[in-house]
Formats: sequence, structure tokens, C-alpha cells
Amino acid sequence: MRIVVGHLFPDYLNIYADRGNMAVLARRAEWRGHELEVRALGQGEAVRPGEHDLFYVGGGQDREQELIAPALAALGPALQEAIAGGAAALAVCGGYQLFGRFYRDQSGDELPGAGLLPLHTIAGERRMIGDVLLECELEPGASETLAGFENHAGRTILDEGARPLGRVLAGFGNDGESGVEGCRAGRVIGTYLHGPLLPRNPWLADWLLAQAIAHRTGEPPELAPLPDELEAEAHAVSAERARTRGGRF
Ligand code: GLN
Repeated sequence: MRIVVGHLFPDYLNIYADRGNMAVLARRAEWRGHELEVRALGQGEAVRPGEHDLFYVGGGQDREQELIAPALAALGPALQEAIAGGAAALAVCGGYQLFGRFYRDQSGDELPGAGLLPLHTIAGERRMIGDVLLECELEPGASETLAGFENHAGRTILDEGARPLGRVLAGFGNDGESGVEGCRAGRVIGTYLHGPLLPRNPWLADWLLAQAIAHRTGEPPELAPLPDELEAEAHAVSAERARTRGGRF
């Protein structure tokens, strides 16, 4: 089967090897006999209903965010429609901030968001940098840990009742105060975790793949398990770094 990913503004939002997330998804799909086709979605491009199974947007600094925020916000309604139709999405750091309602940057300018996640972000004085470890439960009863690296000045505030991606075991998370990180709304996931994120958290890569395949076929797939020994090692190293030197104010 061919899984189609819409990669939003890959030339602008791509720091910390965020493209590695796509490489992981492509290989894990291939190992299960599927093909992942990544189509760049940029300025002036349209999101056609049903075309994409998954959307992805990476991180970027304020400057890059400023350059693409209006164009991404303009795609908001079409992305919303695609997601309502069953497509999944992953947004990382700068992209996560722009999936919310707005991002007020260091200079006080308010960048419009795509409005896909119930949150907003306000730049603070101090950067939150370091390894992070989260505890997540995307499916009831299936608790998993997510390890990664955060580097952001933005403080993200979730709307009342919005669901975070996980509980912070070590690190700053959304704002360094709330004890939570990221946001999850149905099949849409936003997070500050780079690294890139998916190589050391293969369970999340498979969750996203499963959502994308379900969009295409209408059925949640059975994904054959993979050995994931290197991935487990990478996760353990990152988790340990977070436990011993995860950021704190
Ligand atoms: N510019 C944003 C911040 O510093 C996002 C940075 C990033 O994507 N690493 O909050």
C-alpha cells in the first residue's frame, strides 16, 4: 500500500534533523511491505481532500516561523477538514507552536496559527533546553515513555480540558511549570521533542503509521513487530540523559 505524507514547509521547518522522522516512517513502512510517499506542501499549494494520510511539520526558529506562519495558517481549514476525514498529523516544536491558535514571539509579534490544536504559545525570556522524558498513554492502558530533546523559549499553554501528549518525568515540557508536554487531539500530536523524535521512540512511529494506514483502508492495521534493538538502546541512552540532566528552572 502507498501511504501519502504531506510534509509542511520542509525547507523552512527542519531543525535538529527533523527530517529523520520521515526516514524512520518510510523504513518502518517498507519493512511491513508498504511504501511511504512524502510530498512537500509549501506556499501556494493546496491540500486536496483525502490525498494525504498523514501531515508532518518540523521545528524552526522564530525567523523561519515568521516567514511561513501566514501560509500555514491559510492551510488551516483544509488541514482541519482532512483531519476530520481521518488523516493524522505530527507537529514538532516550531511546527507544534504554529498548529495552535497563535505564537507571540520574542519581539511581541503575534504569528497566526493553523488552529489545529487547542493551545497558544508565548515566548519567554529563558530557553528551555535539555533531554526530556515523558510518560504517555495514547491508547487506554498502554503506557509508554517518550524520550527526546527540547530547545524552546516559547511557553505553550493548553486550553482548559485539552489533553497533553504526556506527563513530564524529566525536563521542562510545555512551559516548565505545568508538568505536562505536548498536546494530543484525536489523531493530531504536537510536541517539543526533537532528536529527531521517532528513531528513539519507535512505538510512536508505529502509532502514526497505523493511523495513516487506517485512513487509507478504513481498518486499523496489524503491524508486524520489528526487533527494534538499536532503537531500544537509543531510547535508553536518551532516557538516562534526561533522568540525570533533564532541564529544570
Ligand atoms: N522558535 C521557537 C522557540 O524557541 C521554536 C524553536 C524550535 O523549533 N526549536 O520557542
